[in-house]
Amino acid sequence: MNYIILDLEATCWKDRDINKQNEIIEIGALKINNESNVESEFSEFIKPKLNPELSDFCKELTTIEQSDIDSAETYDIVISKFKEWIDLNQEFVLCSWGFYDKKQFAKDCDLHRLDKSWLTNHISLKHQYADIKSISKPLGMGGALKKEGLKLDGTHHRGIDDARNIAKIFKANFYDWKIKNKV
Ligand code: AMP
Ligand code: MG
Repeated sequence: MNYIILDLEATCWKDRDINKQNEIIEIGALKINNESNVESEFSEFIKPKLNPELSDFCKELTTIEQSDIDSAETYDIVISKFKEWIDLNQEFVLCSWGFYDKKQFAKDCDLHRLDKSWLTNHISLKHQYADIKSISKPLGMGGALKKEGLKLDGTHHRGIDDARNIAKIFKANFYDWKIKNKV
């Protein structure tokens, strides 16, 4: 079983402008094996289709620059690289901090008319973490790192750094996650 610990960044606007559709601009992910070792990392920017110009708010939040996006490939291309990197022929489960990332993947797959079946095997570490620790309200990633006595490394709201930090929480509780069809 491979555990794909992932975090997405997406186009965004101040006050979460509901008239605009968010699109993924970064995928950060780590592949962790049955021995809880990191096998490899995936880190790619994506050029959005609907709003290729990043808002000042988004650039500030994520520290992603317009030039990162301008030189990036489109979602269809990056997602096919990502699926290849995951290796859909091996057993895998997608793990993210909450359900946001899975929903955002589904939205972008719809926008580009791409297959969504690979998203089925997914767990929210955020909700499972609350269960494991018997906390009534799920913690943000920062709160969970603090609870674990772990440092927030890198830049918060950068997909690859968020994924690395989530992976530390994942490894610290490796035997507690509930995975369907675990082999
Ligand atoms: P995160 O994984 O917490 O860095 O957030 C993922 C994405 O959610 C960001 O790239 C933004 O698109 C969106 N987001 C996060 N926080 C905010 C916020 N305070 N206001 C608007 N959008 C946000
Ligand atoms: Mg993030």
